[in-house]
Amino acid sequence: MGLIRSWVASANDDTDFPLNNLPCGVFSLQNQEPRCGMAIGDFIVDLTALEEDGIIGFAEGPLFDVPFWNEAMEAGPAVWAELRATVSGLLAEGSSQRAQVEPHLVPRAKAALHLPFLVAEYTDFYAGRNHAVNVGTMFRGAENALPPNWLHIPIGYNGRASSVVVSGTDVRRPWGQVKSPEHDLPAFQPSRRFDIELEMGAVVGQASDHGYPVTVAEAEEMIFGYVLLNDWSARDIQAWEYQPLGPFQAKATATTISPWIVMRAALEPFRVSTPAREKPLLPHLAEPKPMLYNIELEVGLTPAGGAETVIARTNYAEMYYSAPQQLAHHTTSGCAMNVGDLLGSGTISGLAKDSRGSLLELSWGGKEPFAVAGGTRSFIEDNDTLVLRGAARAEDYRIGFGECAGKVIPALADPYKRN
Ligand code: CA
Repeated sequence: MGLIRSWVASANDDTDFPLNNLPCGVFSLQNQEPRCGMAIGDFIVDLTALEEDGIIGFAEGPLFDVPFWNEAMEAGPAVWAELRATVSGLLAEGSSQRAQVEPHLVPRAKAALHLPFLVAEYTDFYAGRNHAVNVGTMFRGAENALPPNWLHIPIGYNGRASSVVVSGTDVRRPWGQVKSPEHDLPAFQPSRRFDIELEMGAVVGQASDHGYPVTVAEAEEMIFGYVLLNDWSARDIQAWEYQPLGPFQAKATATTISPWIVMRAALEPFRVSTPAREKPLLPHLAEPKPMLYNIELEVGLTPAGGAETVIARTNYAEMYYSAPQQLAHHTTSGCAMNVGDLLGSGTISGLAKDSRGSLLELSWGGKEPFAVAGGTRSFIEDNDTLVLRGAARAEDYRIGFGECAGKVIPALADPYKRN
């Protein structure tokens, strides 16, 4: 399928948001309450207003009278398809309803973007093979790089929904307990090895029943869409705390997501298979069809007052496990999933050095600082801005995610002092 042309001219140009995309966000203009919308070219179509005016409507009742997408997600896959078809028709070239819809377009540049959904819970996986091998080699040595379970289950841990923030939110360098090899005792200090993790996030749009696992095929149907996700990580805190229960405070400072949820349907033309299995998976985790996507990803680093350097380029297709496999595994115990659950993919690194999705890997634990405009980096320095971008590319259009950006601001001088 090629570009679907819209009467919104900027949606037919070089844009992340052609009519084929229609990603879901929450926005506000000055002095306005946040509301739901979809990005189209340089604009946002105000779904809350379209619904209030009766231009769109659903048998389930109002879906956009709240400033988050959870109610629309809960309405289910048939409504998701109906919504896409309806809005696509309204914005398509030659639409007879252009005159009614056009007053409800808002310039994207004037809108503030908010978290697009209420994050119910946040789980982070570790399902990128190259990343797991790289980090395992640095933390435990090459012979123990990949844990024995890694080729059989997508390893994950339960993160904190409270730490998820939208793109553009400043991230303060955390304090934490660290212990360097040359010291006998730990110290409490600002993290000196603060880092990013380039990930995709899967947004769960349908709940599962407590006590019953779902299949991989069922899991895919539960996923509403995908976002870019930067899982900020304090490597020095992580190295000291992570055994035996996994990361805890190292990953709890913030996780930034892009403001637009790209619906699964928009990614349909870009499906790819996970890599060949080194060890066959047990049947309950095997994929019935390709469930990954060809999404080009990159990371930019911009120092304060400086120019951006793209420090990594990779692809979501590098994952060893897809999001439906991760979601299915998550429910094997009978764990219930909720509308608004967020699943981080795990860091996405390619084999090449410049395709690594964290500074830890790019600088090989700080031993090989890499060049950026105006200097070098091993880990993030204060006032650096990190930006993730991603797009699935067809011949004459792309499905973009917008930016997932965050600036790292200096640690508090005394984290226990209150003004
Ligand atoms: Ca992570």
